[in-house]
Amino acid sequence: MECIFCKIVKKEVKSKIIYEDEDIIAFNDLNPQAPTHILIIPKKHIESIINCKEEDVEILGKLAYTAKKIAEKLNITDFRIVNNCGKKAGQSVFHIHYHFLAGRRMGWPPG
Ligand code: 5GP
Ligand code: ZN
Repeated sequence: MECIFCKIVKKEVKSKIIYEDEDIIAFNDLNPQAPTHILIIPKKHIESIINCKEEDVEILGKLAYTAKKIAEKLNITDFRIVNNCGKKAGQSVFHIHYHFLAGRRMGWPPG
C-alpha cells in the first residue's frame, strides 16, 4: 500500500495546500497542534532522515527554505519546525515531513 503523503502529493487524498512547487508540497495537518500547523514534505518518497541519501541534500535544504517562504507568505515571524525521525521520536507517517508550528508559545524541552 502506498503511503498517505504520496497520495496527498498525487491529489488522490484531499488536503488544504498552502504551498507547492515541482519538488515540495505543504498542507495543513489534519490534527493541528498549534493555530498554524503545516506539514512540509518532498514530493519524492523518502521514508525519514535516517534513510536519506546524499543525492537528497538539495531537497532537504529546500524543506527549510520552504518554511521561510511560508512564514513570509503568512506574515509569521516566530515558528518551530520539527522532524520526528523514527517511531520512538514520534514519527507515525514514514515519508519525511517537517511540522511547521506557529501561533502559540512553544515549550522547551519537547515532551
Ligand atoms: P508524525 O507523527 O509522523 O511526525 O506526523 C504525522 C502527521 O501527519 C500528524 O501530525 C498527523 O496529524 C498528520 N496526518 C496523518 N494523516 C494525515 C492526512 O491524511 N492528512 C493530513 N493533512 N495530515 C495527516
Ligand atoms: Zn510517500
